[in-house]
Amino acid sequence: MRKDIYEKMEILSNSAKYDVSCSSSGVESNYKKGELGATHSSGICHTYTSDGRCVSLLKVLLTNYCIYDCAYCINRVSNDIPRAAFSPRELADITINFYKRNYIEGLFLSSGIISNEDHTMTLILRTLKILRNEYKFNGYIHVKLIPGGSMELVEEIVKLANRVSSNIELPSDKSLKLLAPNKTKASVLQPLKYARDISLERERKPIGMSTQLIVGATPESDKDILKLSSVLYDKGLLKRVYYSAYIPVNDKNKLLPSTITKPPLLREHRLYQADWLLRFYDFTWDEIVSDEFPNLDEEVDPKTSWALNNLKYFPMEVNTASKEELLRVPGIGARGVMKILSARRFKRLTFDDLKKLKISIKRAKYFITCNKEFQKQVPFYRENIKAALTKPEPKKIHQPSLFDLQYSNITGEL
Ligand code: SF4
Repeated sequence: MRKDIYEKMEILSNSAKYDVSCSSSGVESNYKKGELGATHSSGICHTYTSDGRCVSLLKVLLTNYCIYDCAYCINRVSNDIPRAAFSPRELADITINFYKRNYIEGLFLSSGIISNEDHTMTLILRTLKILRNEYKFNGYIHVKLIPGGSMELVEEIVKLANRVSSNIELPSDKSLKLLAPNKTKASVLQPLKYARDISLERERKPIGMSTQLIVGATPESDKDILKLSSVLYDKGLLKRVYYSAYIPVNDKNKLLPSTITKPPLLREHRLYQADWLLRFYDFTWDEIVSDEFPNLDEEVDPKTSWALNNLKYFPMEVNTASKEELLRVPGIGARGVMKILSARRFKRLTFDDLKKLKISIKRAKYFITCNKEFQKQVPFYRENIKAALTKPEPKKIHQPSLFDLQYSNITGEL
């Protein structure tokens, strides 16, 4: 790679690393003698296809010049950082070179706003046209749409991309006004609405759409965040919301947490678990959070928290409970439920049978009976069960690493 291109690449891949739409962001381990492999804080990220395949992507900005001044963003116009911009040709060439060398299988392309919204979208579109039409590149492309971009440009991009997204970042208009004065929720959602309508009009498979919400930069509760996600899922605007624990990058703005504040990783993890309940377990947001408890319990996962607050539905008999009921048992995931449903067609299940089916009962044992047997460990009261569930293990206390949290955010293991 030419030196000037290499320098641009370093600046622009580094500037893209705060976007969490790929799970490997932020994981860093350098090469060590005698060991194999290394990760870098930016450059290559991974995404997962609907069949669970992991795809490596070149994650980069077209430019980190930006006319907007979003206080939480490293690329804001008022921040004094090295700036760079690729031309569409340069970026298309890099993508193809990396692809041919087997470094990547696709591209995750975002950008700061240079000159104006439509000019930036035009540059992105040009990059896509070179890749798709000239180089006949058929790999995965994810494009971050620019808030306020025109419908014609969104339409052209939707034709060429596999996934588009537009980052809402902050859950309320009030916070956006304070910290991202050039944006409104409507201006961020507009391109996604265009993209949804265009793909539906053409009766093609709806294009995958996602957004990112920053967690912990502003005072909104988990209730505000989950309610917003739920509305966006219900409207068919999004396939996925990514939650990003705020990493302080601005020590001048008094409205933001100070730069010594640690990113709220556990809160981010609980939000991913709650999101999983919304999308795959038929929970509604107001079952998970409420006016009384607007924030998720950090001590237990959201499904366990719901069960503890609704002990009237438990203990549940695994031999007679419906599929929907079993899905609400803490510690039993969708796969476990399918195993139970198929095994109980042949016999009444016991706790030993669940073990043989490789269904963990570590958490579930407090909430189920098997053939009327209840492995009663503690009195059946909320406080007693919660104390038993959160009691540290005597020998090995496993603190979840960043990798564990990210893995679980992808698989949604609950
Ligand atoms: S528009 Fe995007 S790149 Fe520009 S300052 Fe705001 S968040 Fe950063």
